[in-house]
Amino acid sequence: MSDNRRFSFEFFPPKTDLGREKLATVRKELNQLGPDFFSVTYGAGGSTRDNTKDTVLTMINEGIATAPHLSFGVDDQASILELITEYKNAGVNRIVALRGDMPSGMGAQRLIYARELVEFIRQHTGDHFHLEVAAYPEIHPDASSYDADIQFLKQKFDAGADSAITQYFYHADAYFYFIEQCRKAGIDKPIYPGIMPITNYQNLARFSKNCGADIPRWLCQKLEGYGDDKASIAEFGAEVVTRLCEQLLANGAPGIHFYTMNQIEPNKTIWKNLGL
Ligand code: FAD
Repeated sequence: MSDNRRFSFEFFPPKTDLGREKLATVRKELNQLGPDFFSVTYGAGGSTRDNTKDTVLTMINEGIATAPHLSFGVDDQASILELITEYKNAGVNRIVALRGDMPSGMGAQRLIYARELVEFIRQHTGDHFHLEVAAYPEIHPDASSYDADIQFLKQKFDAGADSAITQYFYHADAYFYFIEQCRKAGIDKPIYPGIMPITNYQNLARFSKNCGADIPRWLCQKLEGYGDDKASIAEFGAEVVTRLCEQLLANGAPGIHFYTMNQIEPNKTIWKNLGL
């Protein structure tokens, strides 16, 4: 990007040959837009460890700046160290460091906080990686309170995180209030809004319930009203999300991270609408 704002696209790692073929087309198309980097998610408990690594390394070998997401999951320190060393040697210079969630059926094991992963990566690789962490303008579902969640975010920065990417949201006010509270708490690093384009109402509603993202009532009503009319949902969704991004950028958001769901549209449409 020519200005100092930062734009990035997130993928999930494909599991099948068809998925890999499709993602090759998607990343080629989205890469032409000139984002600053791509990121690739990591399945709960480390369940996509190899797929995430393969996707990241394929993209790095294509010369595309790509960051793996990572959590301890069910792995021990030696396996995580091996993985980050492999990433470092392959030329990866950014990691999205997370606690993650446990896959269903493995609930008893303690999840290792993202702060501990940040500390671990810094301890073993110094300043090599730019470390991103997750932030929650509408507050993480497990948080004991709004303020406690901000304090735990601060701990991730104090441990060495460079910037944060937020969970998606549709209330711009929630983001701006959160940023104000983070600044008051002494967090001075950039916090990039994560943006989820709207293409499928049922999936969005289900996913939002799990991750604690609020879909405004008017948005639910409007989307429900479209029923199975995918074209109208896509058109309306692109309009709403473009407006949200415009509002964020006009009021000082330092860039945007797009949860692409491995799709070209609507990410490309929103990007073009924003004139990026
Ligand atoms: P943490 O920052 O460790 O916090 C988790 C919870 O614990 C919060 O409620 C926090 O308030 C609380 N907490 C933190 N420290 C303490 C402490 N010392 N004592 C008590 N409570 C504490 N999930 C995946 O599985 N794979 C992915 O690739 C993935 N990518 C993501 C990308 C982004 C940008 C975002 C926003 C989320 C992503 N997630 C991903 C989801 C994320 O893993 C979950 O939201 C998870 O539940 C929390 O991860 P975290 O890194 O935010 O955890």
